[in-house]
Amino acid sequence: MITRSPADLQRARQRDAIPLAVTPDWQSQLARALRDPHALCQRLGLDPAWLPGAEAGHRLFEVRVPEAFLARMRHGDPHDPLLRQVLPLSEEAQPAPGYVADPLDEAAHTSARGLIHKYAGRVLLIASPACAVNCRYCFRRHFPYDDNAPSRAQWDETLEHLRNDPSIHEAILSGGDPLAASDRQLAWLVARLDAIPHLKRLRIHTRLPVVIPDRIDAGLLDWLSDTRLQKVVVLHVNHANEIDDAMIAACTRLKEAGATLLNQSVLLHGVNDSVDALAALSERLFEAGVLPYYLHVLDPVAGAAHFDVPDVEARKLVASLREVLPGFLVPKLVREIPGEASKTPL
Ligand code: SF4
Repeated sequence: MITRSPADLQRARQRDAIPLAVTPDWQSQLARALRDPHALCQRLGLDPAWLPGAEAGHRLFEVRVPEAFLARMRHGDPHDPLLRQVLPLSEEAQPAPGYVADPLDEAAHTSARGLIHKYAGRVLLIASPACAVNCRYCFRRHFPYDDNAPSRAQWDETLEHLRNDPSIHEAILSGGDPLAASDRQLAWLVARLDAIPHLKRLRIHTRLPVVIPDRIDAGLLDWLSDTRLQKVVVLHVNHANEIDDAMIAACTRLKEAGATLLNQSVLLHGVNDSVDALAALSERLFEAGVLPYYLHVLDPVAGAAHFDVPDVEARKLVASLREVLPGFLVPKLVREIPGEASKTPL
């Protein structure tokens, strides 16, 4: 649980009350992400009745929304699909059967600091404990990042695990959001991965090009272009309204650096649980040069039960999507089940 002193909250409130013009400097945008529920409600012109719930949810999982993402939300609409993903609600405090802190049992698969080895042939590296945006449905909202943030010396130990296992062909940078780390740190890490002969692919799971498109800058493109590894960037977009011109430009830069772009979404009640919303998302992704890859059903993480879409409904939605979209624009509907050898198609 996030605990912040009243003085901290007051400082965040004063800072967040002042709209900031979006600057081209991604670090400033990251540092200035809005982190106060009161300011979030005020900036979007929400009825004050939303505030007690927002404060209750914030006490469980801190609000965090960058300006560039906030700017794509509709003013005065509490049901805006982007706002729904970041607005804390009182429902988050209500326990729900089957909803737990670690729904994917990741603690059992953490074989070295910062490393999660769940599936054959690939490992996941927690490259940054930070996110640019805090998504209310996130399955890692309770993840013990402090225990999984290696120093450089510890990274060398963690990477030893990869060096010693020739069956591993793919390193997945995850987090938090791996692109919240500095380019200096990422260049250092990727250079070490590059030097492991049996590694073929570098996969990056990130929401930063969506919520702060300026993150895809020259510093990032330098190390990304330099690696010999094949590059796959898996974005996380849940609604077509998240895709604006700046994000499309960021995708273009990533593609020019040689990355294949895929997207994974989470099926979320009140955000994208309609055929129209999912079809518009796939169409818009393709316009941005991104292929829809996975549509995940919600992982049962404590605090997110209000986002659940029942399986029967999820299957109907995807069946209807097949009737209106070409096959390559229909994402695979999957669930992650702890202990299974891969994601499970529904
Ligand atoms: S890890 Fe991804 S889904 Fe979770 S809060 Fe961060 S950006 Fe959102």
